[in-house]
Amino acid sequence: MIVKRIGVLTSGGDAPGMSAAIRAVVRAGLSYGLEVYAIYNGYLGMYEGNIERLYRKSVSDKTRIGGTFLGTARLPEFKEESVREVAIENLKHYDIDAVVCIGGDGTYRGALGLHEMGIPTVGIPGTIDNDISGTEFTIGFDTALNTAVECVDKLRDTSASHRRCSIIEVMGRNCGDLAVWTAIATGAEYVVCKETGLDMEDLLNTINKSALSKNHAIIIVAENMVDINYLAKEVSEKTPFQARTSVLGHIQRGGKPSARDRVMAGEMGVKAVEALIEGQSGVCVCIQDGKICTRPIKEALQDKSSVIKDKYKVFSRLG
Ligand code: ADP
Repeated sequence: MIVKRIGVLTSGGDAPGMSAAIRAVVRAGLSYGLEVYAIYNGYLGMYEGNIERLYRKSVSDKTRIGGTFLGTARLPEFKEESVREVAIENLKHYDIDAVVCIGGDGTYRGALGLHEMGIPTVGIPGTIDNDISGTEFTIGFDTALNTAVECVDKLRDTSASHRRCSIIEVMGRNCGDLAVWTAIATGAEYVVCKETGLDMEDLLNTINKSALSKNHAIIIVAENMVDINYLAKEVSEKTPFQARTSVLGHIQRGGKPSARDRVMAGEMGVKAVEALIEGQSGVCVCIQDGKICTRPIKEALQDKSSVIKDKYKVFSRLG
């Protein structure tokens, strides 16, 4: 099938750089002579028919803005074939031949569902969690990492002045990249994430050891791993430090995308359009060995814990 009209959507959790990726899809599509349509609010907009044609000017000045200017939403019912059938009818109404789906693993599952029903789809990884297997980086991870590092640096200043232990919760419930990379970049004493698990005895031993030579300590914890208030109580009772907790939360999702995320969004947007023109479907754009390529979405949904464990080995040598 010759692709003439493509749709683009962002879905699931937002990530800085998504807007730059949308812009790249639009500009690349237009440069190849395609018509490009916005599908607002992810799969919800596809289901509701919230679709509009985009032009060159529609995406002016979008590279540097945070969030996603197409909006995002969650529509759990998209798992049901009958809901996807309604969405596909709406695509047909606009003669949209193929769709670029920007988001995380849930978004990829939605794209796969469409592909299996005959709609060509290509995924672009947009998530701060970096939890997509098969790509070294996802759009938004670098910006979120820089935000987390900036916050931890600030907490370190006050923690050192008061001889405290800062316990800082970062995002990434299913993937410890944000936690481990933040820990390496800030010189933290300890990191707890899905891949490392929590060994309380080891944690307390490490903090007690560092108390012999340092006037503060930093523990980075990925969300959903442990109640950080309980952890703070343990550290305050069983080490020389008084512990304080901070949850970075959604601040990690916001802000202007970093230069790196913008560049990657540009490269991935162009690649996604080219993949659709070549007739690819059910694939996603990835970075492997620094090169942009495509892989089947099914491979991108596999477990990536071994990659994080390699990075954790680096962290464990830096204490
Ligand atoms: P993310 O893409 O950031 O992982 P979600 O997991 O919330 O975010 O998924 C985003 C959306 O993708 C969901 O709200 C739903 O519409 C769609 N989706 C998720 N899982 C599936 C699935 N198994 N089949 C079809 N669509 C899905």
